[in-house]
Amino acid sequence: MPPLEQALTRLLGAARVVHSRDALLAWECDGFTVHRSRPRAVVLPESTAEVQAVVRVLADARVPFVPRGAGTCLSGGPTAGRDAVVVDLARMRSVLQISTDDLYAVVQPGVVNLDLTRHVHAHGLHYAPDPSSQTVCTIGGNLAENSGGPHCFKYGMTTDHVLGALVVLPDGSLARLGDHAGARAPHGLDLLGLFCGSEGTFGIATEITVRLCPDQEEVRTLLAAFADMSSACRAVGDIVAAGLVPAALEILDQATIRAVEASVYRAGYPEDAAAVLLVEIDGPREVLAEEAAEVREFFARHGALSVEEAADAAERKRLWKGRKGAFGAMGRLNTDLYVLDGVVPRTRLEDALAGIAAIGERHGVLLTNVFHAGDGNLHPNISFDGRDADQTARAVAAGREILQLCVDLGGSISGEHGIGSEKLEHVPMMFSPADLEVMARVRSAWNPDDLCNPGKVLPTRSSCAESAKWPQIAARVLGEGGQ
Ligand SMILES: Cc1cc2nc3c(=O)[nH]c(=O)nc-3n(C[C@H](O)[C@H](O)[C@H](O)COP(=O)(O)OP(=O)(O)OC[C@H]3O[C@@H](n4cnc5c(N)ncnc54)[C@H](O)[C@@H]3O)c2cc1C
Repeated sequence: MPPLEQALTRLLGAARVVHSRDALLAWECDGFTVHRSRPRAVVLPESTAEVQAVVRVLADARVPFVPRGAGTCLSGGPTAGRDAVVVDLARMRSVLQISTDDLYAVVQPGVVNLDLTRHVHAHGLHYAPDPSSQTVCTIGGNLAENSGGPHCFKYGMTTDHVLGALVVLPDGSLARLGDHAGARAPHGLDLLGLFCGSEGTFGIATEITVRLCPDQEEVRTLLAAFADMSSACRAVGDIVAAGLVPAALEILDQATIRAVEASVYRAGYPEDAAAVLLVEIDGPREVLAEEAAEVREFFARHGALSVEEAADAAERKRLWKGRKGAFGAMGRLNTDLYVLDGVVPRTRLEDALAGIAAIGERHGVLLTNVFHAGDGNLHPNISFDGRDADQTARAVAAGREILQLCVDLGGSISGEHGIGSEKLEHVPMMFSPADLEVMARVRSAWNPDDLCNPGKVLPTRSSCAESAKWPQIAARVLGEGGQ
């Protein structure tokens, strides 16, 4: 066994250091299956002290390392190069403390998002950010990605719910960012704000303090079916323009509805509809009666074919089952799924969807759409066979054009899934070389030797040099000869 693996084994024991080629297959990619690479090794620490010890060994040996939660990322964030060691935090899954008075929880990073809500449910509390992967994804991954979810339209993204973090920096030292009182940076820079969304490139969070929200008195969930996508999009625009703030506003197109209905996530959605709009409102009972009537009025004004409202918790769960299971249902369409994450202003949703359909046709790819309509956060999904080079190339080319379209419509290349390795090449669509230089300087203050998750997020000199696959990025961003 090479000396590095021996040193790691001395720290954690043989069962928590994985280095056989076959076993490493499980860590070769995340949900973005276009980029695959088996890491050099995987370690499974169980405490902050173990993460520190591992990072010190790796930093001393100048071996790059990549934090990983559940690997549900859709942009290649936790995928490690062949020379890198994955620090898998899945075994750090304890809820360390909850305060039902001050409304916060302190958790280890491997705690699964939905498990935290289950843990505090009996106290009438929940953790609000709810990625559709919430049955699997971890709070550490959510923090690193600044994740969103259907209910983030009203409640905000992860950054609005994280109060503090204990972080092992890339040299093995510890930093405490923020605190449970929510006084993020009373007398200084908002380092927690910087860390949130840094995609595992600033260090490894080993304890995270998050806000807990009291459950609302009542929740009402309505599903409207429309004969065309434009009507569903206009209904969303009008609902928001009227000053209503639903907890969630989600749209699924017909291809998605049909995939869901043919799958184990079957939710009873009308298969003849061109689109369904799922609206959830929550708050005091009396207010909701009025709001539900208003929402119904907007449905009618835009010619809804049918409207269904959940009568109880079981029906609400059913209506959400199709939405939350939509990506899984697409496993029926082909072997691989490229989930895009563009954002457009809400008022440009119709234009964006028409443009996306045209791009899909031009590239001959199978496209479905399921998205956070209230935020203008689109998820065009391209189903393809990753074993077929031509199909993969067409999926990637269509994806690039779709993201360019989002930027051209005044939006961005990511609403919540991050840049990772997937969108490195697309970053210059949004940022000038000067912008990128500032971001690179901030990152190098945290991660001076670029050992922590190298080659991600910023197409800097080192990240471009990191991957021989993307020489064109170096040429475009750094100018020819940039290295
Ligand atoms: C079916 C499906 C639905 C999804 N729906 C949503 C959605 O609605 N909203 C949304 O925002 N995302 C969604 N995602 C994307 C994904 O679930 C989120 O990005 C999630 O936060 C990733 O968490 P994870 O535990 O899987 O992290 P991983 O995928 O393992 O890692 C993600 C990134 O975080 C870093 N990281 C992980 N743990 C730590 C840590 N402790 N410290 C520092 N860095 C760390 C990694 O290096 C990597 O860069 C979805 C994904 C799938 C597959």
